[in-house]
Amino acid sequence: MVLAFLSAIGLLASVEAHHTAQGATQAADLLFILVCAAIGLWALRRYIFLLMRAEETANQANCPDCGEYGRFRVVCERARQHQLDVRCSKCAREWVINTPS
Ligand SMILES: [Zn+2]
Repeated sequence: MVLAFLSAIGLLASVEAHHTAQGATQAADLLFILVCAAIGLWALRRYIFLLMRAEETANQANCPDCGEYGRFRVVCERARQHQLDVRCSKCAREWVINTPS
C-alpha cells in the first residue's frame, strides 16, 4: 500500500511537471507518468491479492459448532499441505484451516 501511495505522489508530480515542461522534458515526464501509473496499479493489485488471502484465512477462524471467532489453539501444523489443525478454546471442537500457499 505504501508503494501505491508513493507512486500516486510520483504520478501527480509528473502530471504537474508535464504541464509546465516543453520539448524532450515533456516526453520524459510522459514516460514517468506511465511508469508511475504501472507501478501504482501493480502495487494496488498486489495489496488487494494479499488482503483477499488474509480474508480467506480469517473466514475459516469461526468454530463450526459454537461460532466463536478466532479463539482456538493450533493442535498440529501441516506445512506441506498448507493446513492447520485447530481446537476451539470454548467448546474443544477441532477443525482444519487451509492456509494459502
Ligand atoms: Zn467452539
